[in-house]
Amino acid sequence: MRLILLGPPGAGKGTQAARLVEKHGIPQLSTGDMLRAAVKAGTPIGLEAKAIMEAGKLVPDAVVVGIVADRIEEPDARKGFILDGFPRTVAQAEALDRMLAQKGLPLSAVIDFVVDETILVERIAGRAREMQARGEAVRKDDDPEVFKTRLEAYREQTAPVSAYYESKGQLERVDGMQPIDDVTRQLEAILARHRG
Ligand code: AMP
Repeated sequence: MRLILLGPPGAGKGTQAARLVEKHGIPQLSTGDMLRAAVKAGTPIGLEAKAIMEAGKLVPDAVVVGIVADRIEEPDARKGFILDGFPRTVAQAEALDRMLAQKGLPLSAVIDFVVDETILVERIAGRAREMQARGEAVRKDDDPEVFKTRLEAYREQTAPVSAYYESKGQLERVDGMQPIDDVTRQLEAILARHRG
């Protein structure tokens, strides 16, 4: 199973991806996590990405496409994967299509998390409070001002990715405003349809 999870930051993609990993035994490929690891390790990609990420903007397409191309070659991605946070631009979606076509690997589904954006700012503030309470470092880009920039990047650069997959007849939608378990159920129903 090869899945893409689309939707604005804070829509619940990461939470649902973690559940899918557990249930289906395929890895979650989060470009955000991979970039944060690169920043932490101080790799050349990390050095390039750090300031961009802290500002809430998008890292250049060529950088993330390169990361994903390498990652899907890893043995654990052979039986499938869940892409979370990628593609975030139409150019990334086109590059992914080319990559998968070359390998003869079709996508199973592209799932768009539909949410009310006004609620996201509060959700993210909540995530920051929870992380702080657990003694974890709060993501710098969860700061309310930076979060607004991330939402703008979503609206301008990522929302067209949904239209891209829609025009190819590959887009499915879940209502991301439901309780977490209900979102999971809706997701599983979509996946069962694609498998069956
Ligand atoms: P995320 O954890 O998915 O919210 O990503 C955190 C940050 O990493 C984003 O705000 C971007 O700066 C960067 N990033 C993650 N994925 C991508 C991507 N596919 N394209 C460009 N930048 C990305």
